[in-house]
Amino acid sequence: MKIFRADDSPFKPADLQSFVGGARTKLLASDDTHVNVHVYHVQFPDGARTNWHTHSGPQWLLVTEGSIRVQCEGQRHEDVETGDAVMIPPGQKHWHGAVPGTRGVHLAINVKVKTDWLEPVSDADYRGQ
Ligand code: MN
Repeated sequence: MKIFRADDSPFKPADLQSFVGGARTKLLASDDTHVNVHVYHVQFPDGARTNWHTHSGPQWLLVTEGSIRVQCEGQRHEDVETGDAVMIPPGQKHWHGAVPGTRGVHLAINVKVKTDWLEPVSDADYRGQ
């Protein structure tokens, strides 16, 4: 058994090349021995979101606080709440962030994932206009 204690790693500002709006993130847990899993805890204040991106493997988003907005390219955004979960298929272009006007926190579970970061999400796309 391996325990990853929340207090062992501090949240840090997310990479400004990949996020906008002051998101904070940390690697909570990982396993590179068995199946290559990385679990990130990500905090999005109002207005914060990832850039558009793709993952080479599946990504699960588990909402732990507040509300999270997720959009896949060519589809309308969806808002999910604390306790909800989302699975993003490999190769699907998407973004995730806080629902405008509020904040949200999710765990991101990446399985055998390499992430390709793309362009920022426009304010119009973020607001769903
Ligand atoms: Mn993602």
